[in-house]
Amino acid sequence: MSRAVLILGGTAEAAALAHELVRDHPDWRVITSLAGRTLSPDPLPGEVRIGGFGGPDGLAAYLRAEHIDQLIDATHPFARQISSNAKHAAEASGVPLTVHIRPPWEKQPADNWIEVANETEAAAALATNANIFLALGRQHLAPFASRNDVAFLVRMVDTPADAFPLGRYDVITGKPGNAEDEAVLFEHHKIDQIVCRNAGGARGYGKIEAARKLGLPVIMIGRPNP
Ligand code: NAP
Repeated sequence: MSRAVLILGGTAEAAALAHELVRDHPDWRVITSLAGRTLSPDPLPGEVRIGGFGGPDGLAAYLRAEHIDQLIDATHPFARQISSNAKHAAEASGVPLTVHIRPPWEKQPADNWIEVANETEAAAALATNANIFLALGRQHLAPFASRNDVAFLVRMVDTPADAFPLGRYDVITGKPGNAEDEAVLFEHHKIDQIVCRNAGGARGYGKIEAARKLGLPVIMIGRPNP
């Protein structure tokens, strides 16, 4: 039976799911929705739509207008607004919702994690005068603005258009690498500490493994409450 599926994406898991559904169900209409944060997202099979829906009501209207049979929330675990919107839109429209929650990384015995609840606590936990690898999106940098004693290295997928609200910093562009690549990067930049969120998943795990190998502390920002 032909079906229409809407995947709320922006993650590696959502992309893998789109590939799987298109391969296994060639008669289905598989649509992946992206927020539009990345300039050149990797190509996806099926249909792709880009941009917000206009809140839960807009998403519910889209589900009805496109005769969606199944809504799948495969968004990032820290993307809370869209997940809340998906829940409300599914209830309002009567379209069944499946939620894929990526499990968090588990601390290993050789890991040196400083676990904090948010970016403000992470900024307070930075070592004095240290070189910091900041694996956070630009919307999460403001709490680090007062730490003028440290030097930040920030990695972005796209070249930033505007300056960051940080004192001393350098920017590199690119995607996360494997453990070997990340270790080379950290050594080259003489990194003392890493700051990241507990996103989980394989793609970002290279930096965690590299930190373990090099004995570097990771200031790990925990998951928000569901
Ligand atoms: P968010 O705070 O939960 O969402 C903010 C608004 O962006 C939503 O209300 C919605 O706008 C729009 N939006 C978010 N995801 C969308 C999607 N897949 N399709 C269409 N509209 C979407 O989200 P965020 O944290 O900014 O993340 C945005 C996207 O990037 C998500 O799709 C997420 O999977 C991906 N991502 C996020 C992170 C992260 O660290 N947060 C990391 C990697 C990838 P309307 O209300 O107008 O519909």
